Amino acid sequence: MIDSPNSPELTKLCDRLSMMTPAVDGDLVAANAWPEEKVRLCADGGVYRWFVSQESGGLGWSESEIARAYLQLSAACLTTTFILTQQVSALRRVAGTQNEHLRSNLLPKLVSGESIATVAISHLTTSRRHVGKPVLQANRADGGFIIDGYSPWCTGGCGADWLVMGAEQENGEQILFAADKNLAGITIQPGHQLMGLTASQTGAIHCDQVFIEEKFVISGPKPAVLTSGKGGGTGGLQTSTLAIGLATAAIEFIRNESERREDLAQTHQAFREQLSTLKHNLLELASGADPQTLGCSAQEVRASANSFVLRATQAALVAAKGGGYVQGHPVERWCREAMFFLVWSCPQPVLNSNLCEFAGIVD
Ligand SMILES: Cc1cc2nc3c(=O)[nH]c(=O)nc-3n(C[C@H](O)[C@H](O)[C@H](O)COP(=O)(O)OP(=O)(O)OC[C@H]3O[C@@H](n4cnc5c(N)ncnc54)[C@H](O)[C@@H]3O)c2cc1C
Repeated sequence: MIDSPNSPELTKLCDRLSMMTPAVDGDLVAANAWPEEKVRLCADGGVYRWFVSQESGGLGWSESEIARAYLQLSAACLTTTFILTQQVSALRRVAGTQNEHLRSNLLPKLVSGESIATVAISHLTTSRRHVGKPVLQANRADGGFIIDGYSPWCTGGCGADWLVMGAEQENGEQILFAADKNLAGITIQPGHQLMGLTASQTGAIHCDQVFIEEKFVISGPKPAVLTSGKGGGTGGLQTSTLAIGLATAAIEFIRNESERREDLAQTHQAFREQLSTLKHNLLELASGADPQTLGCSAQEVRASANSFVLRATQAALVAAKGGGYVQGHPVERWCREAMFFLVWSCPQPVLNSNLCEFAGIVD
């Protein structure tokens, strides 16, 4: 059981994940690969307990302890860590519900890792918001809701027992609910072939007249159902943490190379200094520091982390030269994985900041 971010057991888990990494890069294995063993290793290490309070059967880690653990995990294997964040987002939604049925029956199984849940909720916030009609609709029925339509994105539906999903009523109010993935009318589409992280098995979920009993409603109906409760920090520090974790792996690669190549020493030193500042700001904010006193907000950390992970992975490619461009080299995978932060849970100000940097616009 991993009971602290300083635990040697966490280091051991990261070492194992890191050694297994090439096997979960979907471009190199069958497209339907799902990193079952890696997910199981995390569950066996009790990782789901970190995120839930002691009275709910967890370890109640603080946000900064979680950030420190995520930094290590994402440097070891971004795919597994990303999958974990989606499972944890579902777990936290269930942990935050007032619904006693779910709290008593589902939550203990999710906390222990006996059952796994994942989320399909981004169509309520960041995906398909410009289309006129909700892509996943909820209609009141006797004793619950009928759900129709689709959720465009769900990571690891194939490896989950439960789906935490959101749907919208005609009046604009939304519900969040837990659905057994084997419910009649639910179809989990095969994962897309992605630029990176293909083994996360991310695809759409279709719902055809799925009946959700009232006792499986986590929250709602109400406007903007995701703004209440804790879901793992959409657009928040968690995404920055994973970006910084991945950048750390690339910087470590440059460090190794710089031991034999003096020309890389200055580059390595510059990245180390930026890494230290970014990590400091991230962990301060995770500990509840006032952004104004710190001189840096969560969104600024996110914009910097996006830029940093792209630059660090590409610098690693420069260091690795042609060999790093060959499929199967960790650096080419890191470069592809770094692009994910440009599309994952990106609020508009972060998008703007990235676009200004790419377009060379200085303000
Ligand atoms: C690998 C991966 C894993 C993910 N996993 C999950 C998950 O597990 N759970 C989950 O809930 N979400 C998940 N997401 C969703 C993610 O959090 C974002 O919601 C998603 O990336 C937003 O992209 P989109 O293409 O759906 O955006 P959209 O806004 O729907 O854009 C789609 C297209 O619509 C057009 N468009 C966009 N905006 C406008 C506009 N204003 N006017 C006209 N046209 C427009 C553009 O052509 C764009 O390409 C995942 C995403 C990825 C890439």
